[in-house]
Amino acid sequence: MKNFSYLLDSIDRDLLWRIKDGQHIFDIIPYTVGKNDPDLQEGEVSYVLNLLVHYMIGKNKQTVICRKTWNKCCPICDMADTLKRQSEGKSILDVLSWRRLRPKKRCLYNVIVRDTKAMECNGIMLLEISHYFSERIFLELASPNCQIPELDTIQPSIDEVLDYIKDLYFYKEEPMIVYSDPEEGKSISFRRMGSGSKMLRNVLTSFVDRPRPISNHILDEAYCLDAIIKIPSFSEVYESIFSGETSNNT
Ligand SMILES: [Zn+2]
Repeated sequence: MKNFSYLLDSIDRDLLWRIKDGQHIFDIIPYTVGKNDPDLQEGEVSYVLNLLVHYMIGKNKQTVICRKTWNKCCPICDMADTLKRQSEGKSILDVLSWRRLRPKKRCLYNVIVRDTKAMECNGIMLLEISHYFSERIFLELASPNCQIPELDTIQPSIDEVLDYIKDLYFYKEEPMIVYSDPEEGKSISFRRMGSGSKMLRNVLTSFVDRPRPISNHILDEAYCLDAIIKIPSFSEVYESIFSGETSNNT
């Protein structure tokens, strides 16, 4: 099971939706952002928290949010850049060592899972998932010229990720399906195939009409997502790599 240690310790891990094989349906619930959202001002409404996350860092195999999420200096990314330069012309193992350190783009959502009536009655859950299998596909489906790119396993570079994020926020010219809208939004249906060490794929994702709008009661339950994550200082990230060592950088 993936370690979701970038959530605050006070957050009940039972809130995380652990998706099993099979068919699923859920609604994304919007929320009011706090002061730590990387893209929006406090008080604005969002439906997804986009994060860059490093996995399996240091001896303790920690999960650490990349500080580049907030355009801040990140010692793990610095190390990856250094190893990349040093790996030129060397073996595939040297190449893998810096690729492993690169951050992965992740998405955190408030959701209502509607697989069963009982799950729906549980109220808000948290969906923590790769951007590749979530927002990337949802945005393509919402586009008036829907074209889902071929699935591949190549991870983009950090610069490509940052350019993509910028593109998303400036892409407002065409009308889109606002799938997170409480009144006119859509449920999202998909099938999960494969689990554990096997490749995970969410396939046949589609928008489905909701049986009813999202109620104010549900909207009030949504978590402020940027307030329930661990935002690491430079020193904390540095120490995650070199346990015991400290840095004077802030
Ligand atoms: Zn980083």
